[in-house]
Amino acid sequence: MCGIFGCILKRGRAAPLIHAALKRLEYRGYDSVGEATLRDQQLFIKKDAGKIDAVHAIRNLDDLPGRIGVGHTRWATHGAPLQINAHPQSGCSDPPRIAVVHNGIIENFAELKKELEDRGHRFKSKTDTETIAHLIEENLKKRQTEPSEDVYSGFRSAVAGAVDRLVGSYAVAAVCTQEPDKIVCARNESPLVLGIADDAYYFASDIPAFLPLTNKVVYVENGELVTLSKKGFEITKLVDGSTVVRTPKLVDWTPRMAEKQGYPHFMLKEIHEQPRCLRDTLRLQEKYLELLTTFLDRAREVIMVACGTSYHACLAASYMFSKLSFLATHPVIASEFTEQHGKSVNIDSTILAVSQSGETADTLAAVETARQRAATILGLTNGVGSTLTRVSRVYIGQQSGPEIGVAATKTFTSQLSVLSQLAIRLGKKRGKISQEEIDLLDEKIEEIPDIVEKIVETQSKKVQSLAKKHRSKECFFFLGRGISYATALEGRLKLMEIAYMPSIAFPAGESKHGPISLVEPGFPVIFVCPPDETRRTLIGNIMEMKARGASVIAVCEEGDDEIMQLADDYIEITKGIPEVLSPIPYVVPLQLFAYHMALERGCDPDMPRNLAKSVTVK
Ligand code: GLU
Repeated sequence: MCGIFGCILKRGRAAPLIHAALKRLEYRGYDSVGEATLRDQQLFIKKDAGKIDAVHAIRNLDDLPGRIGVGHTRWATHGAPLQINAHPQSGCSDPPRIAVVHNGIIENFAELKKELEDRGHRFKSKTDTETIAHLIEENLKKRQTEPSEDVYSGFRSAVAGAVDRLVGSYAVAAVCTQEPDKIVCARNESPLVLGIADDAYYFASDIPAFLPLTNKVVYVENGELVTLSKKGFEITKLVDGSTVVRTPKLVDWTPRMAEKQGYPHFMLKEIHEQPRCLRDTLRLQEKYLELLTTFLDRAREVIMVACGTSYHACLAASYMFSKLSFLATHPVIASEFTEQHGKSVNIDSTILAVSQSGETADTLAAVETARQRAATILGLTNGVGSTLTRVSRVYIGQQSGPEIGVAATKTFTSQLSVLSQLAIRLGKKRGKISQEEIDLLDEKIEEIPDIVEKIVETQSKKVQSLAKKHRSKECFFFLGRGISYATALEGRLKLMEIAYMPSIAFPAGESKHGPISLVEPGFPVIFVCPPDETRRTLIGNIMEMKARGASVIAVCEEGDDEIMQLADDYIEITKGIPEVLSPIPYVVPLQLFAYHMALERGCDPDMPRNLAKSVTVK
């Protein structure tokens, strides 16, 4: 996720305006920044790695000339946060004639890059985005020599032709010296909005970018091409070039509301972002997934180190790896790693470190212990360019974009999606799962984003009413068996950290070994019960709780009458989700429950007391 912005002004200079707009988009990404402006058929570009203020202090982002320009604040997916990988990206020509900014992931960039290199294009960066610039450049060249039958002409045609070749997600904008009076943008899946003012036209990833300048907004839809010029904006359908007529809407958000896209809290916004983030995890670069799988395959056993929510993702993953690929993985809480494994870890050990920020001090300390003993370090993180990515032999960036709510939500489900893809791949590689099972898992993992979307849409009201009902309880149990134990732990952590509700989670089979003594009539117990092999035994555990008067809330499959009749309340999840993927959808109502409980109990879900987003102290 990153932020793009651009403008065409009737008066004044574009650069300071782009800089200010990028600052307002910084919450979408902040590892690099760049701008390109046009004047007298000349392109001026400034870009560098680092946060906007740091780059501005060195490069002065305000002093580019011209009334037209584009800008980008980056959250890297392809290529480390380095100056060369910052946007705008250009083609081969020197000085540059094209500048492209892009939010999204081009899935087929490797094929396109190869094709363009064969035609003589030279790539400078490691980004997927650079492919778009070369495609446009190639099209401009071609259209000069070959008559085109395109509905578009010139630069517009070159951009339309380039976008037509892309598979993946993009909100992309380009400018070129040949037609220096326009900006051409296109959209598929990544957000793109236009801002309309009397003396200017803007495009951006998100409304806050231009909100202080105008509240007249036009939403661009998937499959549309936009041309901005001093005369106005023109939207056409990419598929046939037909014109789209769309009148601007007025938004009445405050800038702070706009950053949250109208949601009252970042946490709720991020819960709603999960379908999109999950789709992005299905676009991870093949070569990194393959490389990581190869390292996992070579390992005799793997120790996974993480803290908090990431630890829960590792715990769920240990079930996935065992069931799908017969690989023994041991999740270890990072702060305990050195004491527990410090002496036994060695050159034959493989460590998979999972950290949202890639800067979690406890996780990095565990990695350091393992590194000193020559273990192989693998990483999974949302922070490309973070310390974890630098100390890992191979890492995967989970591509969730910045998460602002302190309670992890979208980053957890994305971690689970990446880890399940690795487990499935490894299972395939090791021949431990049948083709039929592989096909089913591949099909279902593609459906998960839609399923999560549906849960958020259909279950939110119900969850809200449950929060009302239980707001004054004094303690909660979260129970699950098998992989759902990890889901239960995560649900409990959410409730505890943002609603300050004392809560306990344990494998449902453990009740009789102690915790059940707390249960008295009305005691709330949340059961996570997907219809897997543990379901029968879990029903026994529900009965035990019912017999002692507990108030049971079940998160179960839709139409699971037996469980629905036993429970006092239930939340329904779409049918047919394979067990190993179940934590992804089943945790979503628990996130919503924690959110609504926080509100019911007068707590701020975005800023829970005593907690920070990334814990960089031991
Ligand atoms: N894939 C592009 C890059 O890595 C854009 C990143 C994004 O949208 O987050 O540069």
